[in-house]
Amino acid sequence: MIVFEFKAKGKKSQYQAIDEAIRTYQFVRNKCIRHWMDNKGVSKAALSKYTKVLARSYPFAKNLNAMSRQAASERAWSSIARFYDNCKRGIKPVGYPKFKKHSRSVEYKTQCWKLLSPKRIQFKEFGTLKLIGTYDLAFYPVELIKRVRVVRRADGYYVQFCIKLDVTEEVEPSGRAIGLDVGLEYFYTDSDGHHEENPRFYRRNEKRRSKLNRRFSRTEKGSKNRAKARIRLAKLDLKISRQRIEHAKRVARCVILSNDVVAYEDLKVKNMVRNHKLVKSISDAGWYQFRSWLEYFGKKFGKITIAVEPHFTSQNCSNCGEVVKKSLSTRTHKCSCGCELQRDHNAALNILKKGLGTAGHVGTSLNQWNASGDLTKSQQLPELASGRTVTALLTDSGLSMKVEL
Ligand SMILES: [Zn+2]
Repeated sequence: MIVFEFKAKGKKSQYQAIDEAIRTYQFVRNKCIRHWMDNKGVSKAALSKYTKVLARSYPFAKNLNAMSRQAASERAWSSIARFYDNCKRGIKPVGYPKFKKHSRSVEYKTQCWKLLSPKRIQFKEFGTLKLIGTYDLAFYPVELIKRVRVVRRADGYYVQFCIKLDVTEEVEPSGRAIGLDVGLEYFYTDSDGHHEENPRFYRRNEKRRSKLNRRFSRTEKGSKNRAKARIRLAKLDLKISRQRIEHAKRVARCVILSNDVVAYEDLKVKNMVRNHKLVKSISDAGWYQFRSWLEYFGKKFGKITIAVEPHFTSQNCSNCGEVVKKSLSTRTHKCSCGCELQRDHNAALNILKKGLGTAGHVGTSLNQWNASGDLTKSQQLPELASGRTVTALLTDSGLSMKVEL
């Protein structure tokens, strides 16, 4: 399960309704605990039934919808179950279920909310909230969103999405690590020197879009033709974004399956926006989608994905570490140590080193290993979800990976 959190924007009256829901949710949960205390041996199903009794006896409990009342009784049950479990296994303290005094959240089941768009969620109880955040929910099928919680914090309200990723699929470890550099010229360049070309439909779509856009701006405001042109443009945009996602997904899956460790730059969309010319190309290259899919498939197949600080990756020499200044238009990296590489290839090598250097123990970096000569040193990378550990070995002959099951 992974949790995405968004800041929620709504009206004051909506916030009040959320507060009310949180209060009622806590009330129902505590009542369920009380009911269990008074009737020891009561079952989970009986607790869930009991919420109906509560709704009948307390008008405000009725305002909280039935599914959320159920969710509250499940919450109560999970602390009861934990208590039973601790008793059985002899774990101390046993954690006797307690009443909650300061709940800050309310949980909703699938039937109680609807995503109107990746950035707007509608609740049956208090209407539509705008979601502010950088995650893109569009990447995850709605069926995978198992729970939605609304959380109150000091600085406002948040919506959390609990997403169930498919059970990690076991795949044969490839024993390979790779660094990826995204540029304008290619979709990506990897640390083996492979260039992945930008798909052809990018250019084609761009031409079609500007043509439609010109046609749109020639139409008269408020006219029927303008409305038609707008729809045509919107449809093309939708097609473009779908094609991009499909492409990014396919390439990311392929990269993840053929490597155990994938390092890439932690490019912030915010920083990219400052450079207007760059942002068009970068967004065009679908880098953002690509990265999200890398992380998605990384989790799915139990591989490691590492986002590294994007500083100096193109300027430093991947062989000796020396700084070799170059402008955006310089396409080759040429160092006094004799290292001559295509610019992006050099950057991808630096990204890989950085990734392997920062992911493991703090204090050892691959550069130090390099300097220490021909010694073979290993570095433990964080344990994988599937319980595998990956060890990166840097030897004379280069980098090798060891994956332990
Ligand atoms: Zn050099």
